[in-house]
Amino acid sequence: MNKPVNANQEFQSDFLSVTEARTAISAVIHSLQAQARLHEAIESLPLKECLGRILASDVLSPINVPANDNSAMDGFAFNGKELDTAQDPVNLRIAGAIYAGQTHSPSIQMGECIKVMTGAMMPPNCDTVIPQEFTKSSEEGSITFAKDTVRAGDNRRLCGEDLQAGKPAIQRGRILKASDIGLAASLGIAKLEVYQRIKVAILSSGDELCSIGVPLQPGKIYDSNRFSLHACLSKLGFEIIDCGIVRDTPDDLRQAFMQAAQKADVIISSGGVSVGEADFTKQIMEELGQVGFWKIAMRPGRPMAFGSLKPVSPKTAPTVFFGLPGNPVAVMVTFYQFVRNALLQLSGALNPEIPLVSIQSAEAIRKKSGRTEFQRGILFRDPEGRLLVKSTGSQGAGILRSMSEADCFMILHHHQGNIAPGDWVDVEIFDGLL
Ligand code: AMP
Ligand code: MG
Repeated sequence: MNKPVNANQEFQSDFLSVTEARTAISAVIHSLQAQARLHEAIESLPLKECLGRILASDVLSPINVPANDNSAMDGFAFNGKELDTAQDPVNLRIAGAIYAGQTHSPSIQMGECIKVMTGAMMPPNCDTVIPQEFTKSSEEGSITFAKDTVRAGDNRRLCGEDLQAGKPAIQRGRILKASDIGLAASLGIAKLEVYQRIKVAILSSGDELCSIGVPLQPGKIYDSNRFSLHACLSKLGFEIIDCGIVRDTPDDLRQAFMQAAQKADVIISSGGVSVGEADFTKQIMEELGQVGFWKIAMRPGRPMAFGSLKPVSPKTAPTVFFGLPGNPVAVMVTFYQFVRNALLQLSGALNPEIPLVSIQSAEAIRKKSGRTEFQRGILFRDPEGRLLVKSTGSQGAGILRSMSEADCFMILHHHQGNIAPGDWVDVEIFDGLL
């Protein structure tokens, strides 16, 4: 794959910036999507199974929400014109009551009101509600309140103010959150059309890797990358095919990649893409498809391979390939910075980006311009209540504890230099609410 853009490279001429790498990945994903029409496969699922899935067609509201004008408060409903003419304080006679769920209400004359509960239909000729707590009952069967506590039209929810019948309530391409599931339920919709989940194969490459459950021999390490990748993918709801550990030989690599490409829409491998080591992987990738071996101006996670493998029977679409670096932190950083969005985009999600939040750094950080750094950060409040971020300490690409202790990435952008205490830095928070 050719290097996409060549502008503004301060670090080293053959390095891609993070932005260039993202642009190149996105372009390939778009063209593969057009060829493969991957996310045209749709399934209809009961609401309770839709959380985290990607909506395949707009949900149109079959009804007005709310279906009627109704009271937003417990109080007394009356005709707002009273406020033009009445004396201060206003005095109204209580002509009846209506509760939520009731459909019949006594009608009123001027000078009267109806006791209403939150959610109760507005009685005929009433457009205003005075909340109970602003009223006094001076005599049996009537209320008084100061005129300036309410304006005509206050405390009333209008028919269709939330959603109008026939208008989109939830848009195609949305990754469904708990609130979307509730919203669909509020419209009486039992099932939603979602895109089928894409299949993602994962494998770890390296002769030093040992499976969990096997005693660790000298010089070996446990394969942790497959487990962190499995967890990252599970959290996003993809179908995962675990292809295990692959030894660093051309035959093992060829066989593993060919098998994975038969079953999966995407393959994610880790390890074996550094200079020298990548020789085998490169050779196999040249046989099996079009894969670029990139050096990215970032820390951690410098080397990465990306491209596609030729369609293998029984599949007719190319398989997207991500060859992530081997270091455990670099795997997670490159996954979240490049792979996550690409997989969601491939699955039909329209706006998968994680929001960046600006937070003040608690400490000085040394940073070279010309590369993007993804430091692991911890959010905290100082004694004055200011929200600050500090680094988890040692930032080595192999120190997985730094990811485990962190609650955010501090993103130090390509052109950014040293950070002073109190400088604003962009942060990506690990946990969302819904
Ligand atoms: P590599 O990119 O293959 O040169 O690996 C870089 C570093 O990451 C080396 O220290 C590897 O031992 C380590 N590493 C590679 N793959 C894994 C894995 N699956 N789990 C844990 N560490 C790994
Ligand atoms: Mg290796």
